[in-house]
Amino acid sequence: MSETFKALVVDKDDNGTQATVKDLTLADLPEGEVTVAVEYSCVNYKDGLCIGPGGGLVRNYPHVPGIDFAGTVEASSDDRYKPGDKVVLTGWRVGEAHWGGYSQKARVKADWLVPLPDGLTTRQAMAVGTAGFTSMLAVQALEDHGIKSGPVLVTGAAGGVGSVAVALLAAMGHEVAAVTGRPEQADYLTGLGATQIVAREDLAETVKRPLEGETWGGCVDAVGGAMLARVLGQMQYGASVSAVGLAGGAGLPATVIPFLLRGVNLLGIDSVMQPYDNRVRAWARLAELLPMDKLEAMVVPATLGDLPKLGADILKGQVRGRVVVDVNA
Ligand code: NDP
Repeated sequence: MSETFKALVVDKDDNGTQATVKDLTLADLPEGEVTVAVEYSCVNYKDGLCIGPGGGLVRNYPHVPGIDFAGTVEASSDDRYKPGDKVVLTGWRVGEAHWGGYSQKARVKADWLVPLPDGLTTRQAMAVGTAGFTSMLAVQALEDHGIKSGPVLVTGAAGGVGSVAVALLAAMGHEVAAVTGRPEQADYLTGLGATQIVAREDLAETVKRPLEGETWGGCVDAVGGAMLARVLGQMQYGASVSAVGLAGGAGLPATVIPFLLRGVNLLGIDSVMQPYDNRVRAWARLAELLPMDKLEAMVVPATLGDLPKLGADILKGQVRGRVVVDVNA
């Protein structure tokens, strides 16, 4: 009999979707050049959508979610990888269109992997995960366009993208203002390096005046919606906003005035289809710049069995920092 391993399988029937930990064999896995013994995965906002009852992003059932993972190559038909190599995967619609990381084994295309960067363990790589990788892309986009004077604003700060962005920007020497709807997370955010806490309600009102005082030297925005519209009118002249997410809504009730009269740049960040060289560069900078004690402070440990609850929690904005899933626990 073939050896079995555990995975979280989401299936769909007339009663909706159910997520259950099941035994699978290698023959169940989708095609790909590289088979990986997964060590860690994590929980991102998209994972919540894929595990949950809506299942909106999942392209095939039964499905193994998990949009990212880190582990050790077990078998490879591609020259770039050999058994024993440590690897990381983010993006490429893994966990949506192709079975993902909530499994003790995964089989994927070699093109989707990058070698684990020097200085990071597989657990640390998943403490960073897609959320942290995206924060790095967002910060790099701000750097490419020039970070102006004044604090850099991070919205959705106690969440995954936000937590890593706060720690990264602080480690790079920037003043960081962290927006949170959870005042009880103020100590956590200052511990990560935030110098100013902004209450979510202070930015919640819809735009009344298209321009307010020039306040922020840059912004990593994980929230979108009315908050992003409001922030656009508070940017320094020529400053940039990296738009990462839509935890607060997909609409954008803004005017063109901040772009016309303040030269504000709105930069869209996509982590899914990043070319190999960009992924390697972003991971190397994360390993170099992100303080590992701050990364550890963000970690919430979890197992495969915890995922249905955690998937629901992240969609309600109730998760703090980064949930790291030990798939072998
Ligand atoms: P989290 O749920 O961990 O964080 C989101 C945070 O946003 C929450 O913790 C909360 O922070 C805040 N928030 C939640 N709901 C609202 C609301 N209604 N209004 C204002 N603030 C709110 O998710 P992630 O950090 O993993 O992801 C954040 C967003 O980024 C998601 O939309 C996700 O899909 C997107 N994303 C995009 C990527 C890309 O490639 N572009 C890659 C990764 C993520 P607080 O309690 O501090 O206010």
